[in-house]
Amino acid sequence: MKTGVSMTGTGGGMKGEPRLLPTGLADSAGAPGFARDDVKERVRDATDIVDLIGSYISLRRAGKALVGLCPWHEDSRPSFQVNPERQTFRCWVCNLGGDAFSFLMKMEKLEFREALQQLAERAGIELSRSRLGLPADDKAGLLKASAWAADRYADCLRRAPEAQAARDYLHSRGLTAATIERFQLGYAPAGWDWLLRQASPAGIPVDHLVRTGLAVERQERSGHYDRFRDRVMFPIRDPQARCVAFGGRVLPGSTDMAKYINSPETPLFSKSSMLYGLDSAREAMGRSGRAIVVEGYTDCLAARQAGCNEVVAVLGTALGERHAKLLRRYADTIIVVLDGDDAGRRRADEILDVLLAEPIDVRIVRLPAGVDPCEFVVERGAAAFEELLAAAGDPLEYRMDEALAKLAGRPGDDAALAAVDSILGALARISPRSPLSQTQRLLREDQITSRLSRRFGMSREALRARMLELRGRFDNAAGRSSDTHDRQIDPVPLDGGIRLQAWDREVLEILVGVPEGALLIVREIDPGQLQSSASRIVLEAARRLHAAGRAVNLQELLLELSDPALQSLLVAVDTRITNRTPTAVAERVQHLEDALRRRTAERESVAHIAHLKTSRLDPLSEAAILEQLVVQRRAVQGMTEPKDG
Ligand SMILES: [Zn+2]
Repeated sequence: MKTGVSMTGTGGGMKGEPRLLPTGLADSAGAPGFARDDVKERVRDATDIVDLIGSYISLRRAGKALVGLCPWHEDSRPSFQVNPERQTFRCWVCNLGGDAFSFLMKMEKLEFREALQQLAERAGIELSRSRLGLPADDKAGLLKASAWAADRYADCLRRAPEAQAARDYLHSRGLTAATIERFQLGYAPAGWDWLLRQASPAGIPVDHLVRTGLAVERQERSGHYDRFRDRVMFPIRDPQARCVAFGGRVLPGSTDMAKYINSPETPLFSKSSMLYGLDSAREAMGRSGRAIVVEGYTDCLAARQAGCNEVVAVLGTALGERHAKLLRRYADTIIVVLDGDDAGRRRADEILDVLLAEPIDVRIVRLPAGVDPCEFVVERGAAAFEELLAAAGDPLEYRMDEALAKLAGRPGDDAALAAVDSILGALARISPRSPLSQTQRLLREDQITSRLSRRFGMSREALRARMLELRGRFDNAAGRSSDTHDRQIDPVPLDGGIRLQAWDREVLEILVGVPEGALLIVREIDPGQLQSSASRIVLEAARRLHAAGRAVNLQELLLELSDPALQSLLVAVDTRITNRTPTAVAERVQHLEDALRRRTAERESVAHIAHLKTSRLDPLSEAAILEQLVVQRRAVQGMTEPKDG
C-alpha cells in the first residue's frame, strides 16, 4: 500500500458545512428526471477548475497535477493538489477534496445554489429567472448602481463642505478616518435629487436606482426623489462584499423622526437574511468559531476598530432564524450584545425563542442601562469588551432572571405559573441539534428545574413533566419527532475522513474509476449490502445516474452528490486509484465478478445455516442443505477477498 493516502481525517475545518443527511442529496432529493441537472452540467463543463482555483491561490505544475499552498490550513509545503484531467482538487493534510462547486462553496462559504450561480456568471451562462431569482444581467446592473451610489456618498463625505456635520458626528463617535474609509461610509446631502441628478451622466438608469431602493417614485406627480437625504450612509454588503443596500442615519439635531432608515427589500437585499459587516467578519468568525452580534452600525464599527473582528450588526430588525442559519456557516457560538434599556430586554425575549430552536450555542450579554456599546468599546478598549463577552450568559439563566424580576412586583399564583411556563418553554425549545452534548443539555435542564423547584416549591417531577409537554407541542409545530430529544441524533459529521471497510472501498473505487465494472456494481449490488452509509449513498446515486441513462464515473457522481464530505471521500478514493500501480481493467473486473460470486455464496450459506438452526428438518433435506453448504464453502475459499491497499 502506498503511503500518504490515509482515509482518516482530523475533522477540522468543516465547521458549519452541510452535514450528511440520510439522503445526502439535499440538491437532488425528490426531483424526478434529470432535466434540472442540465444547467449544473453546463456550468461544470464551462468551468476550468485550474482557472478557478488559480484565481485564489498560486499554483505551479508538478507532473500531471498542479500544486499550491492549501488555503485552509497553515501550509508550508504545497499540500494542495489540483488535477486538471479529473477537474478535482484535494488537500492531503485537511483530507478534503471535491470539484469546482465544492471548492467555491468552501472558499466563499456558499450554499450549492450560490456557488452554481457564481460559476454560471463566471462562465457567462444565463440561469433562468425561475431557478435562481434575478437574471444575471439584471443583477449586474443593480449591483453596479449600488456600487456607484456608495462611491458618490463616500466621495461626498470625504470632501464636500456640506458633509462637515457628518464628519464631525463620526469623529465624535470615535471612528477614525481609516475605519470610515475601510467601511466606505458616506453622506447623502439634503435635497431631493442629489443622487438622481448624477445618475444619467454616469450612465445609471433611474429604473436601477428605483429597483435598488435609492430613489422613490413620486405619488402626486411624475418623477422620482432620493430616498436618503441628509444622512450618514452605511453601505451594506453581501457575503461576497458587494454593496447591495444602505443604512442611513440622521445627524444629531435633525427633526427627522426616523433615526435610521434602511433600503427597502429589493431583489438584492433582504434584511432578515443579511448582517452588516458579515463580508469582512467571516474569516475571523471561522477562526474563533464565534459570531458577535450588536444592534447598531457604529457599535459594529467601533468594535472592528478596536480589533474585535467577529462583530456584525443586525439591520434594524431582531436577530432571527435566517440570521442564525447564516451565522452557523461560520461559527458555533453566537454572542448577542444587547443594550441595557427596556427595548433591549424585549428584543432579548423575542430572539431567545427563535434562537434556542436553532442548533447553535447562543449567549447573551446585556449592557448596563445607559451604556451604548460603541461608546463602551471606544472609551474602554478591546480588552474591556472581551471581558464583557466572556461574561456572556446562558440564555436560560437570563430568561430565568428576567421572569423572576418581573414576578417581584406581582405576587400571586397566576403570575408565578406564567413565569414558570415561560422558563420551561424556553427550555423546551432548545434544539435537539444544539451543539451542546446530550449530557450538557440534561445537566442544563436539571439545573433549571432545580432552581425553579426551590424558588416556587414545585416538585422537579412536575416541572419536568410540564417541560416535556411543552416540548411535545413545539415538536408537533416544528414537525420534529419528539423521541429525538432523548437520543443523540446528529449524524456523525463526515469529513473526508470516512473509514471504509475493504468491500465498501472496492465498490467505491470501481464506481469512481473503472467504468467497465461500474455497471456490474449498479446491477448486482444492493445498497443495503454496503456497510457505511456514505458508500450506500454513493451507490444509490450511481443507480440513479444509470437509470437516467448517464455515465457512472467520478465527474457525474461529484455532480450528483454536492455534499462536501461525500465529495472529499470520492476524490480521496479517486486519488488512491490513480496513485496505485494500475491494475489492468480486465483483471480488476474479473476480480470483482469473483468477489460478487463469493459474496453471494457466503450470503446464501449464512441463510442456510440460519435455516438449519431455526427449523426442524427431516434428515433428507438436512443432508441436501449440508451438501450445498460444502459447495458454497469451497466457492468462498477459492476466491480472494479484496485486500486493503
Ligand atoms: Zn489543507
